[in-house]
Parts: sequence; structure tokens; C-alpha cells
Amino acid sequence: MIIAHTIEALEEAKKTLSGSIGFVPTMGALHQGHLSLIQQARKENDHLIVSIFVNPTQFLEGEDLDAYPRKDEADIKICELAKVDILFMPTVDVMYEEDELCIGAPVRRGYVLEGEKRPGHFDGMLQIVMKLLNLSAATRAYFGKKDAQQLALITQMVKNYFMDVTIVPCEIIRDEVGLALSSRNVYLQGDEKERALCLSRSLKRATKMVMTGELDVETIKTEMLEVLGEADRVEYVAIVDREFKALEKIKIGNTIILVAAWVGKPRLIDNLWI
Ligand code: AMP
Repeated sequence: MIIAHTIEALEEAKKTLSGSIGFVPTMGALHQGHLSLIQQARKENDHLIVSIFVNPTQFLEGEDLDAYPRKDEADIKICELAKVDILFMPTVDVMYEEDELCIGAPVRRGYVLEGEKRPGHFDGMLQIVMKLLNLSAATRAYFGKKDAQQLALITQMVKNYFMDVTIVPCEIIRDEVGLALSSRNVYLQGDEKERALCLSRSLKRATKMVMTGELDVETIKTEMLEVLGEADRVEYVAIVDREFKALEKIKIGNTIILVAAWVGKPRLIDNLWI
């Protein structure tokens, strides 16, 4: 595995590759969720590039940029074991200059839910993903459904800017009790880990309701909020179609149910695709 810290080193390393390139961008502190993307990319491509970059432009003032978990040494080992060809670990200076040209998230899909609660987050996310997709020259790039809105916006960016890469959505990986894996789960302390399960439990409750024929969004949301009572603060429960438009009735095959809530220090998100 070649570890590249600069653009020049990445370009040099890419010369050793021929054939299709799978690419998995991450912010590090790798867990089984990241690994599932990496393994899928490994299987579906001749070569595999992973990036680790904690992107400052997608963190808002007062968010956890400085405290974001970093585990470079362990991450390098994981990537080696997963047979990554190139691990790209740039510094902020490598990725950004002053007074940059920016792309903005679309006004509707980009400014509801996560975009409304974290204004500017998606602008920064799209900016870095555009850069990384261009640099990797990936054939396919892998993103988790865990960040459903992020996945939708990246898919839209690739379409709107006619970018020559296929975006591959990957399933959400959970721990044995149902908690969606996240680098931020390390912040959970004491009973918070147990209480954090209310997010996935609320989604399970929604699934049961849908399976028994309940399709009314308000009724489902009310029950979900009851389950989410164990969180310290619920930011939103939303039931939308794949275009992120609010629904009144569940549309089987075209619905995403999303939750965001604070439990202790971390802000957690989870979702379910129906
Ligand atoms: P991050 O390091 O949090 O920016 O995540 C990097 C990629 O891993 C993104 O595409 C995430 O959606 C994906 N990811 C993170 N957690 C999970 C998970 N539990 N299951 C599936 N994909 C995940």
C-alpha cells in the first residue's frame, strides 16, 4: 500500500494502477461501517483508493472539528489489511487555498433536515467530495446510506456536473444491538450507549407499523417520537421520498425515514429506506 500525503505523491502512485478504480472517501477513525464500503469497493474494482481527511469546511463554528476522533495508525493498519492500493491522507494545506471557488448545495434538497440544522455543512462536503472524486479519477465511489442526504446530494452533483464516476450506495452497518456505527459513537459514555439505541428502535417501530399497514406519516412520527424520548434532544424525525420531499403517506419503495438526536455529547443520525 502506498500512503500519499500530497497531490504529487498521489499522482505518482496512480501511475502504478491500470484498470478500474474504486474510491472510498472517509474522515478516518475507521470502523466496520467504513470497512464494508472498502470491502465492496475492493471486490468490484481492479484497484482501491481510500482517503482519510477531516474536512474543516463541512464543520460549522462550534462543532467538533478539533475533537473529531483521529486514529491514523490504526486506520493505516486496517487499510493495509483490506488491501487498499493507495491511502490518500492529505493535510488541509494540500486540499485548500485561500479564496476558493465554491459549489453550493441545491436550495431545496440541500437546505432541509441536515442542511437546515447544519447550514453550510453540505456546501463544504460537496466541495471536498468534488475535489476528491477528481483527484482519485475513480470509476466507482462508495458512500453509506447512513448519510442519506449526503449520498443524494453527491449523486445529484455527479449528475449536474456530468462527472464521469458511478456513485455506489452502501447499506448501513450496525452493531449487534442495532446502533448504527459512527466514528462519533466513541463519545457515548455510561448509559448513553443504551439510550442511543432509541434512534434505531424508533426506526424499528416505524417498520413494524408499516408492515402492519399503517402508512400515515403523522401517526408513525408520533410513535417514533415516543420511542425517541430517551434521547436528550430530538432534532428531527422526517419521512420523505427519495427526492427529500415531505410525504403524507409512506410510499413503499420510495421513502426514507430519518432521525437526528443528541444523546450526551454526540449528535447522532440514523435512517431507514422503505
Ligand atoms: P465518514 O468518515 O463519517 O465521513 O464516513 C465515510 C463514509 O462511510 C460515508 O460514505 C459514510 O456514509 C460511510 N459510513 C459511515 N458510517 C457508516 C455505517 N454505519 N454504515 C455504512 N456506511 C457508513
